[in-house]
Amino acid sequence: MPTTRLAPSPTGALHLGNARTFLVNWALARQNGWRVVLRIDDLDGPRIKAGADRMAVDDLAWLGLDWDEGPRYQSHDKSPYRAALERLLAEGEIYPCRCTRSQILAASLSAPHAEGHDLRYPGTCRPQPGVRHDPALLDDPQLAWRLVTPDKTIAFNDHYAGEQTHNPQEVVGDFLVATKTCLPCYQLAVVVDDHGEGVDRVVRGDDLLASTPRQVLLYDRLALGAPPEYWHLPLVVGPDGRRLAKRHGDTRIDAYRQRGASPERVVGLLAEWCGLGPREPMTAGEFAERFDLGKLPRAQSVFTDTDDAWLAAVE
Ligand code: GLU
Repeated sequence: MPTTRLAPSPTGALHLGNARTFLVNWALARQNGWRVVLRIDDLDGPRIKAGADRMAVDDLAWLGLDWDEGPRYQSHDKSPYRAALERLLAEGEIYPCRCTRSQILAASLSAPHAEGHDLRYPGTCRPQPGVRHDPALLDDPQLAWRLVTPDKTIAFNDHYAGEQTHNPQEVVGDFLVATKTCLPCYQLAVVVDDHGEGVDRVVRGDDLLASTPRQVLLYDRLALGAPPEYWHLPLVVGPDGRRLAKRHGDTRIDAYRQRGASPERVVGLLAEWCGLGPREPMTAGEFAERFDLGKLPRAQSVFTDTDDAWLAAVE
């Protein structure tokens, strides 16, 4: 059965922007008969906030979403990531790296790269081809691990964003797959988990579009078969055009709950942002019946004070 996942990161509370993506993901699943796995992406050590996992689960349920399996926590079983790293190491696909961020920054200042954002790794620690490393090195706390990333274009067709072509070597270089504490990095963890959970439909914000070619490459390097099908959706922004965040006020779902907003109002606003006409309160089930991907605006949705007032208005 086709399978998707809702994968909140408990690094903060769910806000209206995340909620819109989850609602669309869930509606596509319910319209198309996909199985839904709820996964808590909690490997991001220091950024994890205590209790944010439970709050995400409660917020999703309060909005009217449900799931067929989970919540599953990434942190509960790290052995699949270790197995993936051992496999990549045995195949000579990864290598240890001692570089610090400031060293990489200094090296990349003298070699400017195509796109901003991610710091491009210039390959300082990359060994000669054919060098094999001792698996015991995976436990060395001085070493992070990078994938030997080919200089080639990766293409995939996104069901919403269209045909994508991207060369990860040009943009990020040999990227990290494990940190110095041998924790899997996001790119590796998401591939191992999606594959392990049978996830073959991924719906998420287009802030992750640039990560997808790295993940597609990892499916290949780990011989995991075809990568999932992807839908990358535009984000919700504040009036300043920046991604919805604290600076735009308290847009946490939990804060609206506390202020007495109903889930139907929240879903109603999200529905308007999805192109379903003027806002009116509706349940998640009604949203799933009406949702039409073809109507989802290409432009980012903008959250304003008027939206905030409407959500908290008493009926
Ligand atoms: N947990 C990630 C996030 O909240 C999503 C991961 C993914 O969709 O691949 O940003």
